[in-house]
Amino acid sequence: MSEERKPEEGGSEISRRAFLAAAAAAAVTATAAALAPMKDIADLPSLEEFLRKHYTELTPADKAAIIARISAQVEKKYGVKPNLTDPPPLGGVEFGYALNIGRCVGCRKCVFACVDENNQSRNPEIQYIRVLEMKKGSIDVETSNTEYEGEVPKKDSYYMPIQCHQCRKAPCVKACPVKATWQEPDGVVVIDYNWCIGCRYCIAACPYGARRFNWQEPNIPQDELNPEMGLLSNRPRPKGVVEKCHFCLHRTRNGKYPACVEVCPTGSRKFGNLLDPQSEISNILQTKRVYVLKEEVGTLPRFYYYFDI
Ligand code: SF4
Ligand code: SF4
Repeated sequence: MSEERKPEEGGSEISRRAFLAAAAAAAVTATAAALAPMKDIADLPSLEEFLRKHYTELTPADKAAIIARISAQVEKKYGVKPNLTDPPPLGGVEFGYALNIGRCVGCRKCVFACVDENNQSRNPEIQYIRVLEMKKGSIDVETSNTEYEGEVPKKDSYYMPIQCHQCRKAPCVKACPVKATWQEPDGVVVIDYNWCIGCRYCIAACPYGARRFNWQEPNIPQDELNPEMGLLSNRPRPKGVVEKCHFCLHRTRNGKYPACVEVCPTGSRKFGNLLDPQSEISNILQTKRVYVLKEEVGTLPRFYYYFDI
């Protein structure tokens, strides 16, 4: 009788274990391969960061732990203890913004106040607001100049600042493959900087060029860091993620104006609650000649332009 080899006792278990080990090794290799293109644009997250849930599924305890972890990171890096909070949207509030094109003088004070308030990188430079210098009589933003110099306002020009328009139908939100950007009940489109994978689909989708990508580690001088921070707004961002204007939600959800509204010397910038018929913004929408940029793309912005007449 031929000696038939029988499987050893437990042999099938050993095979299964060997299979699982091989599968796990393959998975690690595949994960490493998948992450390889990101090695230059993002520091890999800690296990704690990697295992966390999507922002919308976080419990208050989860959020408290995340706030504590990020606060410690900020303190270690900048030597400043931040006041990091996560103010929720206010009930009965939908924020809107109106900009008086007839008054803007192109001074760019709004640009720099926004940089300071929102801890934007100084080098490389990131700015959420762009001010377009346009020739009087022209409405073609494609031929505008964003790098104008010299005294302003120039006689033959007018000025049109652009930032995130907090669109009701936001193409950036639709484009994000991991839902790292979404619209809050008060209308602000936010980004979770720890959920963003840096694919930049949202940048391609935004018709207003409102989003910025951190190609390098953001650089903010220690003594210029604004310690009043919101989790979904101005807390320092890592390399490899997208950011943009968020209507200064750490201020506006606490009853203040955005920094750009406060600083504008000509009163060109107006902000408020669209759901309050008595608000200044509602009054402007009812009484002024108002328009939105690129209306034809159907994004339904909450950012309006108007003239006094
Ligand atoms: S601060 Fe006011 S006037 Fe100056 S560029 Fe900005 S919107 Fe225009
Ligand atoms: S302006 Fe751009 S970034 Fe802002 S909500 Fe609209 S599509 Fe998104």
